[in-house]
Parts: sequence; structure tokens; C-alpha cells
Amino acid sequence: MSKPIVAIVGRPNVGKSTLFNRIAKKRVSIVEDIPGVTRDRIYMEAEWTGHEFTMIDTGGIELESSDRITSAMRQQAQLAIKEADVVVFVVDCKTGLTAADEDVATILRNADKPVLLVVNKVDSIKDENEIYEFYNLGLGDPLPVSAVNALNMGDLLDKIVDNLPSEPQIAENSDEIKVAVIGRPNVGKSSLVNALIGEERVIVSDIPGTTRDAIDTHFNKDGTDFVLIDTAGMRRKAKIDMPVERYSVIRSLRAVDRSDVVLMVIDAVDGITEQDKKIAGYAHEAGKAVVIVVNKWDLVEKDGKTSLRFTETIRGELAFMQYAPVLFASALTKQRVHRVTELVKYVAEQHAMRVATSVLNQVIEDAVAINPPPTDKGKRLKIYFATQPDVKPPTFVFFVNEPEIMHFSYLRFLENKLREAFGFEGTPLKLVVRGRK
Ligand code: GDP
Ligand code: GDP
Repeated sequence: MSKPIVAIVGRPNVGKSTLFNRIAKKRVSIVEDIPGVTRDRIYMEAEWTGHEFTMIDTGGIELESSDRITSAMRQQAQLAIKEADVVVFVVDCKTGLTAADEDVATILRNADKPVLLVVNKVDSIKDENEIYEFYNLGLGDPLPVSAVNALNMGDLLDKIVDNLPSEPQIAENSDEIKVAVIGRPNVGKSSLVNALIGEERVIVSDIPGTTRDAIDTHFNKDGTDFVLIDTAGMRRKAKIDMPVERYSVIRSLRAVDRSDVVLMVIDAVDGITEQDKKIAGYAHEAGKAVVIVVNKWDLVEKDGKTSLRFTETIRGELAFMQYAPVLFASALTKQRVHRVTELVKYVAEQHAMRVATSVLNQVIEDAVAINPPPTDKGKRLKIYFATQPDVKPPTFVFFVNEPEIMHFSYLRFLENKLREAFGFEGTPLKLVVRGRK
């Protein structure tokens, strides 16, 4: 199920990222702090009074024609209105009201989305007099906050949660493999989707979404049901060519949320971009299976080692995603296009794989025998028992004597042993450590 999206917009330096980091949920599990997962996230998972949502810092989204600040801000505001469920508009009480703020406010006033006007840097009571001028923006009562001093964060979160849409109830076919096709404009997503579907009978379904209707494409291939999330638009010949429409990160994140498998399409000529890395990081943290398709392989001049070199580059750029299979294809010539659905099906199975507890514990025992767990201040970590309570992604819980002694590198070692024993290709694994005396 896709989570509601809350977008933060505002001028540079008003404190968007500070606010964003304030609101972000504390990371709970050890494995989420994997080095290599991109630092400067544009998204954060947040939770307040039991309501979960994804927070997006529109300032971190690369826009194509953002040469001028005001035009970039306008684009960000438009993108937020179009794709987010709630827009948080941040202004700065220290600099006061600016022309750019007024510009953005005009766009936001005409939106049919809830907009919360937040005045940041109200660090103490004496600053509160500075908030009145922001009533001029016509966006209702400004809410004073201080991201740095964590003032009024509760009120802001209450307001956000009050404005979240209620969950739509969607009946989903659980046997279908749900696939999100993501990638920059022009990498060949539409061509690939059309090539995949080919002559198959296609059913297009309208999913009543919270903000916009995502139109999915369902098809059956060799007895397996697939749904390509939010792709009906891609299949149309004439595509809408608006800057906002071109690479909607928000839309991609929503598709990833609803998917089992992410099909990451990369252009063989252009390679991986920063934006690709951020979305890949999101897919990884969301625990989705991934297949990387290097499209337009027909355009590359090849010698015997080209694909090997290309794979190495991808492995280096997406260090946290070593598990994703890489496929070199061409939507144009159809080279290896038939392998795409095979691989998607394969990684979906790996993503849903459950291993027997007895076999799991044998593998862990053997691993521990080869490489004893770390010690700290004279104590050695003992792993008593492991279980796999969940799938999609496969989740393992290790019951140990002293969780604090568990080291990141040792978890990585255990993960490698699990992969050696069971495969789990194409899927991230979640490893949880629990204390038990
Ligand atoms: P962004 O460009 O909108 O993402 O802004 P940043 O979050 O990078 O913040 C810009 C500057 O404002 C930084 O120097 C922050 O430390 C500062 N800042 C952010 N929030 C507050 C606040 O609540 N009070 C004060 N006094 N400064 C803040
Ligand atoms: P999208 O924006 O990601 O949906 O990309 P499109 O499917 O619209 O493709 C963008 C351009 O790349 C079009 O001109 C396609 O004909 C071309 N294209 C797509 N796939 C391939 C491919 O495998 N090889 C070559 N040479 N061109 C391709």
C-alpha cells in the first residue's frame, strides 16, 4: 500500500532540510545504516500518532531547467501540488516575507491540496511578532516553529496528520507480481513496457488513488500475472511533455511503494545519475526486489568485456544493491526483452522465499564456526537462535546475549552467508538483532 506523501517547499535556506531531518523517524534497525546508501535523501519515512507518511524535500529534487531560483521554486511547488497529499510551505521569520514567497503562495493558493504555512526560525517568544506579515500570503494561520530548537514540532505534525487522506481500500490480486518501472526520461521505459507486453492481452485498471489516479497495466505471460504500476500513460504514443511530468520523483516513489519488484531502467549510453541513486536507495530501504535493466544496449560498441565493465560500474555506484541482477537489453531490437519477465518472476520468488528454521540455524552455526562473533570488553557475542518471521523482504531475527556487541561488519558477514546458502538474488534482506538472556 502506498503511503501518503507530504512535500516540503520553500526558498533555499529557510530551513527545509533541518525541518525534514527533525521530522524523520528515528532509524530503528541496524541494517538501515548501511554505508553507501545515499546520504542526502530527498525522502524520509515519518510517523506520528500511528500515522505513517513519506516526507519529501522538494529542494533536493533535481529539476531540468532550474537555472533561476524562482523558476525552480515554481516547479517544485507545482510538482508538490500535483503529486503530494499535503504541502508544507516553509518561510523564514529572520528574512521576512520575500517576493519569491509571494510567488509560490500564489501557486499554492490555487491548489486543491491542503497547504500548511510554516514560519521557521521562530527560536524564542520574541520572534513571534515577526509572523504576522505572513498572513498576507493568504494561506491561513502561519504556524511558528523552530527546526533548530525543535519548537512546535508536535503542533506541525498534528496538522500534517489531520490533513492526510484516509486510506483508499483497494482490492488487490495477491497472485499478481507488482512491478514499478522507474528511470529518467528517455531511457526507454515506454518502449520497454510496450515491448514487454507485445501481443499479450492487456487490461488497464484505474486505481482510485488519494491524489491522482494511477493507471496500471495488467498482463499474463507464460501463466504468470503481472501488473505494471502506473504505466498506462507510458504506453500512449504522444506523451505529455511538461517539465513537471518528465521525471516525477514523487510519482516514482509511490509506484515503488506499491510494488514487489522495481525494474530500474538505465540508459546504456548515459549511465546512472544521482536521482537514480536516490530512488534506488528508496527501493532498497522499502525492502523491494530489484532488477536493473541497461537499455539501448544496441547503441553500445562492444568488445568481450563491455558488459562486465558496465556491471562493475553499476556495482560501484549502487554499492548497497549488490544483490540486483543486471540485464543488458534493447527495447528497440527486442534483444533480451523476453528475459525481463523471467527475471522479474525469479526475483519476486526470492523476495517471498521462506527458509526452514532448522536449516537456517544450521547455516548460522556453520558461519559462526568459521568466523567467531565479535567481542567487546571481554564479552563475546553469542547467537542463540535465528528465525525468519517475515518475507517481502525476507526478514531474519537473531536472538543474542548482548545486542550492542553486534557489529555492522559481522551482520554483513551473516548476510553473505545467508545469500551463499539460499540465494535471495535480487532482494534486500532485513536483519534484526534482539537481546535475550
Ligand atoms: P534549506 O535550504 O531550506 O533546506 O535550509 P537548511 O535546512 O539547509 O537551513 C538553512 C540555514 O538555516 C542553516 O544554517 C540552518 O542551521 C538554519 N536554520 C534552520 N532552521 C532554523 C531555525 O529554526 N532557527 C534558526 N535560527 N536557524 C535555522
Ligand atoms: P521513456 O521516456 O523512458 O519512456 O523513453 P521512450 O521509451 O519514450 O524512449 C525514448 C527514446 O529512446 C525514443 O526515441 C526511443 O525510440 C528510444 N529508445 C528506446 N529504447 C531504445 C533502445 O533499446 N535502443 C535505441 N537505440 N533506442 C531506444
